[in-house]
Amino acid sequence: MNYALVTGGSRGIGAAIARRLAAAGLGVIVNYRSNAEAARATADAIAAEGGTVCLLPFDVADEAAVDSALEAWEDAHPDDRITVLVNNAGIRRDNLMIFMQTDEWHRVIDTTLNGFFYVTRRVLKGMLTKRFGRIINIASLSGLKGMPGQANYSAAKAALIGATKALAQEVAPRKVTVNAVAPGFIRSDMTHDLDENTLRKLVPAGRFGDPEEVAALVAFLASDDAAYITGETISINGGLY
Ligand code: NDP
Repeated sequence: MNYALVTGGSRGIGAAIARRLAAAGLGVIVNYRSNAEAARATADAIAAEGGTVCLLPFDVADEAAVDSALEAWEDAHPDDRITVLVNNAGIRRDNLMIFMQTDEWHRVIDTTLNGFFYVTRRVLKGMLTKRFGRIINIASLSGLKGMPGQANYSAAKAALIGATKALAQEVAPRKVTVNAVAPGFIRSDMTHDLDENTLRKLVPAGRFGDPEEVAALVAFLASDDAAYITGETISINGGLY
């Protein structure tokens, strides 16, 4: 069976992506770091909808953990392969630069950027061998525009967009596409602390987006119809930028 690996697939945007890709007929590997309860709920929902799902907890920022988890999965699934990778795991540790702690800087870069590197390098081997793959990186409006209070997050997401463009050119001859999606304000645990009623006035569409709307875009990029789109960053932000 062909599988999609969704990092941070247990909650929010990642969970919506996992459900959507399962509905499209892919087996789904739901990765998460620590919240097993949320991961189990997402897996149960996918199974209830008739999808094939397995949970694979690991910290994307831990190189050894990434390699050993994916090796174990491959050993347990000799007839299956990962054809779609969605690098979605991400965290916010907002602070003005002048107050930013070293740990806040590194944790955000480690998760978004180093996590992308460790997971993608590991999964890419199989895609290049089989001459097919879809890699979709969840970037952010912050990586395009920059957001005050988010120098760490903006830097990580901008770097992810740069890596998307470079890798796309490396692997296009092997029919592997690499694209990024740059959401604006999307309702999830990550934006739970934001004042939606005030911030939505900045959005031409007048509202925050839903995780399912991002998932629909990711599902398109993962589909055969998107075979000629690569190295692209697609905004999904209600006209905000
Ligand atoms: P949530 O906080 O709702 O969910 C984050 C997910 O990532 C959880 O499944 C979490 O697992 C997982 N995760 C976090 N750190 C790690 C790690 N080190 N290793 C593995 N898994 C990890 O976030 P959203 O759904 O809102 O965001 C998803 C992505 O979309 C992120 O990359 C975010 O930057 C991006 N984005 C979000 C926007 C928004 O408005 N919501 C806007 C633009 C971009 P666990 O529960 O175990 O911690």
